[in-house]
Amino acid sequence: MKPTPITEAPADAMDRKAIKPVVCYPVDTLPRPDLAAYRALRDDLELTKTVIVPPRDAATWTVPAGHFFRIVCSEGPQVGDLNLFNAHDPRERLYTGKTRALNGTHVGLGDQLFSNFPYLRPIATITHDTLDWYGFDEFGGSVHDVIGTRCDPYTHNLLSHGGHYHHCCHSNLTRAFAKTTGMPVREAETYVHDVLNVFMCTGFTRDTGQYFMKASPVRPSDYLEFFAEVDLLGALSACPGGDCSSEHSSDAAACYPLVVEIYKAKRLPEGWAPPAINGYDGTHDL
Ligand SMILES: [Zn+2]
Repeated sequence: MKPTPITEAPADAMDRKAIKPVVCYPVDTLPRPDLAAYRALRDDLELTKTVIVPPRDAATWTVPAGHFFRIVCSEGPQVGDLNLFNAHDPRERLYTGKTRALNGTHVGLGDQLFSNFPYLRPIATITHDTLDWYGFDEFGGSVHDVIGTRCDPYTHNLLSHGGHYHHCCHSNLTRAFAKTTGMPVREAETYVHDVLNVFMCTGFTRDTGQYFMKASPVRPSDYLEFFAEVDLLGALSACPGGDCSSEHSSDAAACYPLVVEIYKAKRLPEGWAPPAINGYDGTHDL
């Protein structure tokens, strides 16, 4: 609980609070993907690879630019924590902070996922979402957030006064990335980044602004589909929280595998080219 205020409100407090917000980043000038051009390819996709992500563990895959990949709910309600890297240089990776600032707290159909500085370009575009009917619920919750970082053993250790749980999403992603790249685990860990929480239903409580989760509405055969804007290395953890209805950082919740499917399209979207890295000159006036 936050402490009650100790500062007396000024006389014009109500006026100050009544000021209407403005959107931080008006995105009228943001180049938008031609969603229809991407979706026009979806009727004729060839499945080229299937990757199973075991419960309470993670797996990786690569997907070439111009291909699609889907994250599929297979056997039961399950949340997935997604990391994305440039397949040729893992220093370029998903930047949830700016993706959130540009798209909102939750992402869906037509939204683009951006990479970190100094690259800052779209690395994936969401081309289908079978949960797009959900919108926002009465609690302010929605699916596929870019606000929740990832469950991790450090926060668990703080909150449980010393606990050691090794199958949080952070650890699962670290193990999978270390195995794929051959990096020592301590080095691999530094590349693991804040995730897109696929299928997770989250929001902030209206009264205290606290991050909340509730049972995911995902059901078997639901999927979230992406178009790879650049050659990608993906890593996905099947969260130990299962549908994240009660707790994570333990083996208590029912957990299910997730499936990643990679699809080749017969052609590239009309007018599409891989996005160049960001055009800022990088001198910072030095
Ligand atoms: Zn997790």
